[in-house]
Amino acid sequence: MREMKLQTRKQNKTNAKCPLCNKIGSFDFVGQDFMFDRTKYYNYLKCNLCGISYQNPIPNLNQIKSYYPDTYENFEDPKRPKFSFFERFRLCFHHNYSDLVKNNLFNKIFSLFIPKDKSLIDNVQNGRFLDIGCGNGSRLLKMKKLGWQVFGIELNTFVYQKCINNDLNVQNKPLEQSVFKDSYFDVIYMSHLIEHLNNPKEIINICSNLLKKGGKLYIYTPNNNALGKKIFKKYWFANEVPRHIILYSKKGIEKLIGKYKFQILYSSQKTTPKIFLNSLDYLFNLKKPSKRNRLLRFISKLYIYPARLLRMGDESFYILQKTN
Ligand SMILES: [Zn+2]
Repeated sequence: MREMKLQTRKQNKTNAKCPLCNKIGSFDFVGQDFMFDRTKYYNYLKCNLCGISYQNPIPNLNQIKSYYPDTYENFEDPKRPKFSFFERFRLCFHHNYSDLVKNNLFNKIFSLFIPKDKSLIDNVQNGRFLDIGCGNGSRLLKMKKLGWQVFGIELNTFVYQKCINNDLNVQNKPLEQSVFKDSYFDVIYMSHLIEHLNNPKEIINICSNLLKKGGKLYIYTPNNNALGKKIFKKYWFANEVPRHIILYSKKGIEKLIGKYKFQILYSSQKTTPKIFLNSLDYLFNLKKPSKRNRLLRFISKLYIYPARLLRMGDESFYILQKTN
């Protein structure tokens, strides 16, 4: 342990600058790979200016590849695209997909009682949708069913093949090597991707070029200011050490998009018991997962309310818009 601390102290000196602000960061936590190999340790620093935490040193591509064992991805087949009753109403009356529900007075009035869901994407005639890190293609199939032209990028060869089997237009190479025309897309989607990247500025720059003016970029990522992170520190499930290279705060996202013609249209933080319960598993190294323990499930529900009230949920959601 002492040797490890000495080693991480040395690393602090070699490459300690925040990848977004270029300011020297301070110690945040020493994390472990709780998912696959607890014996490995990784040093994380925090930027006091923009509030992100980042692995130090920032790993290169070969190191990043070594973080993903073959058993990492979820290998299920994509689900057949289906929309729930309420989803159809929301899509029709709040997001302009007019043929999903009959447009009569009763349905119109009924729709007023269904709250909007910002995570649903407004209809764009002949819109083009790109999902970076599209996994097995479930989201692409849903968007295709809603009338979008869909495109995906997926580096995992196994799930990529599932997309191809479903006739989806998906590329098995990184965004940096993909060939798309500038101003081609109406919407780009990145769900739990950006925290895995060692070159987020480059990716945001490419997204900015690929989007039309007014186009939107949807980002889901862990919230580094979450109450859960403050409670569990190195045991917070969403740290996902070492695969999460950067954990973003809202200020960090603002810093990241600063130069690339984006504005934040909307942001929110979501909290579910899952992250809390999984963090307990890490903290106590439990044999029986805490989600199967009634008392712990009850406690996890108590966690949700302060996290929501303080706007310190575990997962951040941003809608960014390209400004010009
Ligand atoms: Zn910073």
